[in-house]
Amino acid sequence: MPIPETTIDALFDRYEALLIDAYGVLVDASGALSGAAAFIERLEREDKPYAIVTNDASKLESSSARIYGARGVPLSEERVVTSGSLLVDYYAAKGLDGARTLVIGPGDTCRYVERAGGVPVKCDVAEGWFDVVVAGDEAGFDFLPGIERALSIVLAQLETGRPFSLVLPNPDLIYPQAAGAFGFAAGSIALLIEHAAATRFPGRDVRFDRLGKPHAAIFDAAVRRVGTKRCVMIGDQLATDVRGARAYGIDAALAMWGLTQAVPEALDAALRPTWLLKSL
Ligand SMILES: [Mg+2]
Repeated sequence: MPIPETTIDALFDRYEALLIDAYGVLVDASGALSGAAAFIERLEREDKPYAIVTNDASKLESSSARIYGARGVPLSEERVVTSGSLLVDYYAAKGLDGARTLVIGPGDTCRYVERAGGVPVKCDVAEGWFDVVVAGDEAGFDFLPGIERALSIVLAQLETGRPFSLVLPNPDLIYPQAAGAFGFAAGSIALLIEHAAATRFPGRDVRFDRLGKPHAAIFDAAVRRVGTKRCVMIGDQLATDVRGARAYGIDAALAMWGLTQAVPEALDAALRPTWLLKSL
């Protein structure tokens, strides 16, 4: 059965709140996407509950809002739910207050760790024992020496057998840099470390805890922010936005002007959007 097309008007009518992906829906590397500024203005004017739901863990909400604004989509930071912000609940649930934390990522990832009650040390200067390793972002440090230092610390700690936490706020493997150009994202760093650990310690299951889309933690936070589960996720990626929303039990509208411009004929049921949306 074909996936039905919908419109923004219909989504406003049908749902109490909208969850909105940022990159590929509202903005891309070159600036605001068509209709994005007017769409946000309408949400504000009609007082519609909404949240921007982004896997980014490299920028605080205030930094993200500033960047969206500079690209022509003015947003208040209270509307932004980042994967970095999920560290607060993660540290609380695991009793990690005061945890010495190795941070793979830039200064804003360290700020998220501090907000969660952790004590961040950036990977390029890390030494000693860490209670937590956060794979936050590929930027903000000298990449190869930084991840190799993190890898060496993780392997040394696994050797001791004493438990510690590995957490990956942003599970994205790659990100679009420009037309036809891609970069590695934090999820790829976590995969490298996981595979290296499995090679060094066969039979040990070393896994980062994953928080961002398509995992439930970020949808929990977004639904709490908008105050209702009667919402729809508008996003441009099947594997994160659509899979995550459907698994969480909410509808998903695939924005057809971003990374996914056609839906494959034979589509796994878990990746099937509720709606196709052709414009804002
Ligand atoms: Mg996107």
